[in-house]
Amino acid sequence: MGRTTLVDPPFDAFRALADRRGRPGIRLVEALAQAASETVSGPEAWAPEIAHAFGLPAAAGLGPASFYADLASRHGRRHVRVCTATACFAARGNRHLAEIQHALGLDGGDPQPEVSVQTVRCLGYCYASPACLDGETPCVGPDVADQVAGRVRPNAPPIPTADATGDPIVLSGIVTGEAAWQTWPEAVDRGTPEQVQAAVAASGLRGRGGAGFPVAAKWAAARPSPDTVVVANGDEGDPGSYADRLLMEEDPGRVLEGLALACFACGARRGVVLVRSEYPRALARMRAAVVRAYEEGHLGARVHGSDVDLDVEVVAGAGSYVAGEETALIAGLEGGRGCARARPPYPTSSGLWDAPTVVNNVETLAAIPWIVRHGGDAYARRGTPGETGTKLVCLSERFARSGCYEVELGTPLRWIVAELGGGLRDGAALGVLQVGGPLGGFLAEQELDVPLSEAALSRYGAALGHAGLVAIDDRPRPEDVLRHVWAFAAAESCGACSPCRVGSRRGLELATASGPPGEAYARMLEVMSQASLCAFGRRVPAAVRSLARAYGDRLRGWGG
Ligand code: SF4
Repeated sequence: MGRTTLVDPPFDAFRALADRRGRPGIRLVEALAQAASETVSGPEAWAPEIAHAFGLPAAAGLGPASFYADLASRHGRRHVRVCTATACFAARGNRHLAEIQHALGLDGGDPQPEVSVQTVRCLGYCYASPACLDGETPCVGPDVADQVAGRVRPNAPPIPTADATGDPIVLSGIVTGEAAWQTWPEAVDRGTPEQVQAAVAASGLRGRGGAGFPVAAKWAAARPSPDTVVVANGDEGDPGSYADRLLMEEDPGRVLEGLALACFACGARRGVVLVRSEYPRALARMRAAVVRAYEEGHLGARVHGSDVDLDVEVVAGAGSYVAGEETALIAGLEGGRGCARARPPYPTSSGLWDAPTVVNNVETLAAIPWIVRHGGDAYARRGTPGETGTKLVCLSERFARSGCYEVELGTPLRWIVAELGGGLRDGAALGVLQVGGPLGGFLAEQELDVPLSEAALSRYGAALGHAGLVAIDDRPRPEDVLRHVWAFAAAESCGACSPCRVGSRRGLELATASGPPGEAYARMLEVMSQASLCAFGRRVPAAVRSLARAYGDRLRGWGG
């Protein structure tokens, strides 16, 4: 199955000008990020000058600088990013934000030249919430404000990790110590791209970043070109999931090996790893792993004696949920606002600077060395016939045994919750379980017998997403959970299309006001789900409906 298309991308004047100015792309974003980190002033004070330095008009700097959270937020000399995503909300009702602001002397919340606070949606410490990053130092746990205040030492426990399959695939390096780069030297020297493609096709592997598109079909759709590029998407934006952070920090070589095999299969001589800025340690470890890979001959010219040249670079994101969507990610790599684009054209035919571009999630790539080494059929014997293989699931802090587990697809959620997670801590009762991040959905306790698969979850209006499982116990009020969901939607909508831009803000207004939402609310959900440009706007109504269904009478009328 291919996705080739003859449709040209719409003309974009800024993009065309940037193309003529040498494609500053991520260098522009990095320069803007550097400037933002050094001043409490807003982008209007510094973004135009930076854009001019690249030969671009002021708007080319102001656009991304006012879009990405890291660039738009005001930075004091000490800058603290406080997580207010779902696991932190479930742990403390986000009271830690005010406690941290108080500890820093920022009770009004306004940034000061000495110190500033930026709220972010997920730092990947969901197993031990609440969390913040003080500069690049993680502070995690119920005493997070005391850590920031210096009353106790900063603390960030490692991610608890285990395999529940008996023979881990994605976690083979982390759980069993299997070294990375065991497959690539032989594959590139004595194998062929067709053999890698065939193994992945036989495996049935689907993208693990949320969309679930068959990997082999995406590779096959990439138009043959000397400019083809493969992007490892490490912009793990789904609050509740920290699987990609685990892989990039603890087994970066396996991610790179998967990327190298993907490049080989697609005929790409260039790979890019995008790591979200909320993961500074992952960024550093991926960069160090790339340096090591060049030193060991896995990357560079004529790798392992073959006629294959392969270069890989690691770049940092700038803080945006939607920028993890593949067309938005490409827009960010080109130095623009991280907004989704209409498709076609698909990135596989016209992506980064119009080159064929394959975007694969980090967890997807980490499975590929095992698949090539053991064969696609061995992988396809795991999971369900329609959804093969294994998946990392991340259990949030409310579980008695929170952590990241590798399970086979199709494993009943109740078994994951009860046997792996040990149920909720302190014997608390489950209110609802969020599955697959803010665009996934919610399940009630009596619905947990559903298998962990896209097909099964869809029957409840939910989606697999990154397979983060955030338990919300019976303490938060359902209307507060609803407001939290709409607040996320309103804050992270990229604004490129009006159904989502207007609908998400209106949803938050209604969820903040007292009383039932009224008749127009159902129409608004329908318009969002039908007319939004990308999966973000289309999925928000489904998530809200599933929340209303899971809470039943306690959120009557909010399902639309
Ligand atoms: Fe942006 Fe929302 Fe439209 Fe997607 S649906 S393009 S996130 S405004």
